[in-house]
Amino acid sequence: MGLPPTRPDLQLREGYHSPQVAVEVRLNTNESPFPPPPAFLDALVEEVRSIEFHRYPDRAAWGLRKALADLHGVRPEQVFCANGSNEVLQSICLAYGGAGRRVVTFEPTYALHSHIAHLTGTEVVSVQRRADFTLDLDGVSSVLVEAQPSIVFLCSPNNPTGMIEDPTTVGTVLDAAPGLVVVDEAYGQFADWSALSLVGDEVPLAVTRTYSKTWAMAGMRLGYLVGPPQVVEALERVVLPYHLDAVKQAAGLLALRFRDEMEERVGLLVRERRRVIAALADRPVQVWPSEANFILWRPEGRSGLDVWQGLLDRSVLVRDCSTWPGLRDCLRVTVGTPEENDRFLAALGDVLVAP
Ligand SMILES: *Cc1c(COP(=O)(O)O)cnc(C)c1O
Repeated sequence: MGLPPTRPDLQLREGYHSPQVAVEVRLNTNESPFPPPPAFLDALVEEVRSIEFHRYPDRAAWGLRKALADLHGVRPEQVFCANGSNEVLQSICLAYGGAGRRVVTFEPTYALHSHIAHLTGTEVVSVQRRADFTLDLDGVSSVLVEAQPSIVFLCSPNNPTGMIEDPTTVGTVLDAAPGLVVVDEAYGQFADWSALSLVGDEVPLAVTRTYSKTWAMAGMRLGYLVGPPQVVEALERVVLPYHLDAVKQAAGLLALRFRDEMEERVGLLVRERRRVIAALADRPVQVWPSEANFILWRPEGRSGLDVWQGLLDRSVLVRDCSTWPGLRDCLRVTVGTPEENDRFLAALGDVLVAP
């Protein structure tokens, strides 16, 4: 007899993994290198004491949505919260994708966009970016007219390239897309421009954000979307009831009181990013501009995998993108603390002179 087979379309798909190895310097998953402030943890512990754990949480997460709406100068009806922005993306695919519908992605980009689309039975049309990772806007418009996707995913700053989509690009995609345009701004606070400025009740645009990076709360699993109330209502129809637990709602709300500290962390990481990019420019590596907390680079005349292994041998873990389509020999390093960045640069210096 044996156990039953899964859905046939799952058999070819690998889950999304970012291998974690025990190392001293972990610069592979774009997390904040700093924990949230101690005063936040104290306030959270205090708040947790007052939660009525025998009751279901606020199903609408209204307090949290109100606070996020204040943060962005929108209305709570325009905010949808979920367990990480990945659950936001999944909810978008459940509500607007599905069998017989299409998603367009511009590769290379965040692997979860196409992965989640596949899992929800949505067909994925992948468009390659130009060699410099920008979009050919004429080409984009014709692809969108031809593919008629119900969802278009943009990512700004784009993971793994670090580059932002400028207002012209987002505007062009919005004009040409027949469905919903989603701009994933997981790294939004690191960049100078945000598509949040284009959100409106009649605009088919949704911007996703997360607590995982700039808010230093990857362990909490909280993300959200800002968009038209009609989109928010659609997403509420596909999520499970009470999907956001009471502790998470409280934590998300409290974290916003520590916005100055968040902005200070972001400022420090931006200065460190500039320093690391400048240091890389003096080495035999190609470096792409970044407006995020990570940097994409490619060793010249060396295999990316060799350099990745050399860094790992020195207890520095970066992301190996060398086999990803369009990213031959590329590696991605997360900006860490000044000490971690020094360790990375020293190890890299070593590896590049080693035979
Ligand atoms: C890290 C990252 C996220 C975060 O997802 P969460 O589920 O919120 O942790 C989302 N989008 C991109 C592009 C990312 O790099």
